Amino acid sequence: MVPSANLLDGKVAVITGAGGGIGRAAATLFAENGATIIAVDIVDGPNQDTVDAIVDAGGRAVMVNVDVADPAGMEQMMDFAEREFGRIDVVFNNAGVMLDGDTDAVETDDATIDKTFDINIKGVLYGCRYGIPALRRAGGGSIINTASFVASLGAATPQIAYTASKGAVLSLTRELAVIHARENIRVNALSPGPLRTEMLMSFLNTEEKKQRRLVHVPMGRFGEATEMAQAALFLASAMSSYVTGTNLQVDGGLTAAYVTPE
Ligand code: NAD
Repeated sequence: MVPSANLLDGKVAVITGAGGGIGRAAATLFAENGATIIAVDIVDGPNQDTVDAIVDAGGRAVMVNVDVADPAGMEQMMDFAEREFGRIDVVFNNAGVMLDGDTDAVETDDATIDKTFDINIKGVLYGCRYGIPALRRAGGGSIINTASFVASLGAATPQIAYTASKGAVLSLTRELAVIHARENIRVNALSPGPLRTEMLMSFLNTEEKKQRRLVHVPMGRFGEATEMAQAALFLASAMSSYVTGTNLQVDGGLTAAYVTPE
């Protein structure tokens, strides 16, 4: 448990994918640090659980159910957040999917590619398109886009649409950081390593698959969603006031390793 430092006192944060691993952990930690949370997800039950836990602990959070790939829904969600709470300071574009049937370039069908790109790339772009005007009106802010270590490394386990989508997240993050730097809007990517969340554990569903992935992680363990939330808190808060356009790799050393220690 990280001691509460109120790093986000008075701030309003939109977090997508708040019903799941990283999004829920970030919503909880940001709320503990004083932020009002707009918890966004496509599923309502788990997202409601996130909001209930925050409110029960004395924090402020509301739930909005929207598909990040739906531009009209994303616009309405941002409008609601700004109208209801007067401002938006942080947009954490974190929702993402890794679909069954996403394999290599030969086998992956168009439906899988389109859905992956719609959620993982266009969902992030919509968060920026509809979030940036509100951040401008607030006098600046922080956008965090969740990419992945696979944006920087080729993985032998093929998931070509997912990997391509995360590469796009890194590229659009860098460009937006440059475009908006003088508006006091910082834009950074967070690249998690393999995590012990539902998304990856359902994919690495045998001990053998888990161990095969861990061979590549110098720290020899999966990361925790809370460890991603801590990095996101840094990027969301004034602690990172001179950081923009970066890719913060929180991966147990995975992307640094050529040979992993015994
Ligand atoms: P998760 O599956 O636990 O949570 C993802 C959440 O996003 C879920 O609550 C889901 O309902 C929501 N979501 C999915 N599609 C959506 C849509 N169209 N609109 C709104 N919400 C939607 O996964 P997680 O591990 O917390 O992943 C969060 C982010 O981290 C993703 O972008 C993922 O690609 C990235 N990531 C995860 C890992 C990992 O090992 N888990 C590694 C690298 C990157």
